[in-house]
Amino acid sequence: MRLLVIEDDKDLNRQLVSALEQAGYAVDQAHDGEEGWFLGDTEPYDAVVLDIGLPKKDGLSVLEEWRRAGRTMPVLILTARDRWSDKVQGFDAGADDYVAKPFHMEEVLARLRALLRRATGHSTNELTCGPVRLDTKSGRVVVSGQAVKLTSHEYRLLAYMMHHMGRIVSRTELVDHLYDQDFDRDSNTVEVFIGRLRKKLGVDVIETVRGLGYRLDPGAGAP
Ligand code: CA
Repeated sequence: MRLLVIEDDKDLNRQLVSALEQAGYAVDQAHDGEEGWFLGDTEPYDAVVLDIGLPKKDGLSVLEEWRRAGRTMPVLILTARDRWSDKVQGFDAGADDYVAKPFHMEEVLARLRALLRRATGHSTNELTCGPVRLDTKSGRVVVSGQAVKLTSHEYRLLAYMMHHMGRIVSRTELVDHLYDQDFDRDSNTVEVFIGRLRKKLGVDVIETVRGLGYRLDPGAGAP
């Protein structure tokens, strides 16, 4: 899953980005409304953390423009004060959730997990595909009851596919949702990661759909 953080407070931006990366997301960052609007308008983010008080273009305008252009990614707004009118304006501009500053990072992480699972049609943090279980809260992956250790890239790949299980996911889509802007994007590496992931999971849940991409088969591993 790939996220965008738009926050002009440098320290807070850095804290958000590092907490989100720690939690297994690919993260891009912007420090003003114009840059943030542009990234959100051109890159396919799974969710956005958007500050309301921003230089160059305020957060509400950024959000309204995205929504007017038909961009539907979940947006969590950061409001400076716990004022009811900020929240109402934010929701009316197209926000999906909000956190009032100052906040606990755990709350931002929990709200993002909720937005991501809702956007992909899941009801809990624990995603299950045949014998494979992935807990988006703890970052733990278990196959047939045995814990499996994955690298951050392998985890990100599996988490994206688990959120979208049953659907064919193309290599381009995976590249778009697994790597941040600065990453050297060579779509061949996706095949390498898929191969490693298959080996580590040890069960045949990732199906290759020739010419189209990959699909996690929820019925895999069943007798
Ligand atoms: Ca601000």
